[in-house]
Amino acid sequence: MSNVSVTKDAGGPESAPSDLVVLNNVNKHFGALHVLQDIDLTIASGEVVVVIGPSGSGKSTLCRTINRLETIDSGHIAIDEKPLPEEGKELAQLRADVGMVFQSFNLFAHKTVLENVMLGQLKVRRTPKQEAQDKAQALLDRVGVANQAHKYPAQLSGGQQQRVAIARALAMDPKVMLFDEPTSALDPEMINEVLEVMQQLARDGMTMVVVTHEMGFARSAANRVVFMSDGRIVEEAAPEQFFNNPRSDRAKDFLSKIL
Ligand code: ADP
Ligand code: MG
Repeated sequence: MSNVSVTKDAGGPESAPSDLVVLNNVNKHFGALHVLQDIDLTIASGEVVVVIGPSGSGKSTLCRTINRLETIDSGHIAIDEKPLPEEGKELAQLRADVGMVFQSFNLFAHKTVLENVMLGQLKVRRTPKQEAQDKAQALLDRVGVANQAHKYPAQLSGGQQQRVAIARALAMDPKVMLFDEPTSALDPEMINEVLEVMQQLARDGMTMVVVTHEMGFARSAANRVVFMSDGRIVEEAAPEQFFNNPRSDRAKDFLSKIL
């Protein structure tokens, strides 16, 4: 077993200083459905973790629990050594440390691209307006849509909108970025432009959790692949290990269907 594990420490449940996201024995139910079962997951600062698994296995729920869009029934979640609070101002602050990019871009339709990227900075971070605008413009440049700043989301392609959504999340200076199937709703020719932005983020050292079916991305950008099935983490390994030599029958079966 130890030959495939790439988790850094073989030690106990205590976390190391570089552990940015720690889930300890997390359980969640939706009614009778035990959607997350005894999830233990530790993500180090700068690590890129790709989460894969069949539809319905709990990947989105896992992401949503990490920034407390979903409550959990038992267990512990900590971001940068701070336990996730139940609610209130602290929760808003902690949530702002966790950037999230969804399958559907979720931009505000009645705000310009620039305003979309400024909004969280103004409301949550209380950044002065000019500073927020300068930062938004710089981030739009970084994701390659600087010249779209004054358009409305509907005037942009899906790939451009998703890159704006990434810029908007980055504007909060998140400690970790969660991506839940960020390219699944895109036309094929737009997938790469979004993956390239994510690749660059990974190279820049951003801590990332990425749910995706893009195995090329997983192979080239991930430090670790986490395979989920039926609410459990069934297997985790370095990408080449996982793709070339999956251990579990469930992972083998899944890979045989998608590769
Ligand atoms: P994945 O992202 O891996 O496809 P999800 O986390 O979206 O899986 O869903 C896991 C399971 O939980 C599915 O069976 C789904 O139908 C169920 N589920 C997700 N959200 C809810 C909810 N809000 N209420 C009830 N069941 C849900
Ligand atoms: Mg999902």
